[in-house]
Amino acid sequence: MICTLCARKCGVDRAAGQFGFCGAPDGMTVSKIMLHPWEEPCFGGKAGAVFFAGCSLGCLYCQNKPISAVRPLRGMRLTPRELSLFLTDLQQKGATCIDLVTPTHFADAVLEALRLVRAELTIPVVWNTGGYDSPETIRACAGLVDVFLTDFKYGTSALAEAYSLAPDYPDAAAAALREMFALTGAPVFDGDRLVRGTVIRHLVLPGGRKDSAAALRRIAETVPPGEVLLSLMRQYTPDFAPADIPALRRRVTTFEYESVREEALRLGFVRGFSQDKDSADTRYTPVWEEER
Ligand code: SF4
Repeated sequence: MICTLCARKCGVDRAAGQFGFCGAPDGMTVSKIMLHPWEEPCFGGKAGAVFFAGCSLGCLYCQNKPISAVRPLRGMRLTPRELSLFLTDLQQKGATCIDLVTPTHFADAVLEALRLVRAELTIPVVWNTGGYDSPETIRACAGLVDVFLTDFKYGTSALAEAYSLAPDYPDAAAAALREMFALTGAPVFDGDRLVRGTVIRHLVLPGGRKDSAAALRRIAETVPPGEVLLSLMRQYTPDFAPADIPALRRRVTTFEYESVREEALRLGFVRGFSQDKDSADTRYTPVWEEER
């Protein structure tokens, strides 16, 4: 299979032992499976999280480099059948959703696992992605995934290339987002819990205020701002950034974050979450009222 699962479209033949940018082998590699209490508040309780090894982006400031950037990938090699058993086990243990974290580069196998157990899963299935999926991969999620929890990291090619080695990221993320929203439509809640919809995360970066505004404008051109949930994050911490990139070696200022938040409101993103100043502890604070 010539791999085009993500927007990088390396075109390597993984079945023949070739590796692309993500470092993924032909089979699936999973770093960790756990009940995870720190997912977005709209998922409630504890998410049943599956953390996949590797990533098709190369974000310099990534907090998960031991999982995403180590080559060869480290973790459990699972078949779709084995993964499907873990998914039903998470549900039995009380998970409030199935949270598939960075699944894109294993999309074929993950979707095969979902097909095996979809009828048994009564909790929402969340595709938790960096946003660099190919449109075909998102379309293949139809009937299997309930919620897309996607990053939209950059509004300009310059920053996307400098920080994630993906100059086409804004175009690729917009194309993927369009497909996600086409599948889910506007958010649907069961009580406080999101059971269907698209949640867009944007992490404000130090010195990235203008790029963030461009990203928000791009999102607003792609999907109706009032019909998606926006999670505007200020949890950036400089600890994981390389020492030789001074621009990334500080936190985001209140002025930077608030100016991006004002732009979000100006564009009509009235549903979602922002974060308080102490969000390096990942304490999420819902500030915009959910409409139901
Ligand atoms: S999933 Fe990996 S191998 Fe496939 S196109 Fe993306 S980066 Fe390349």
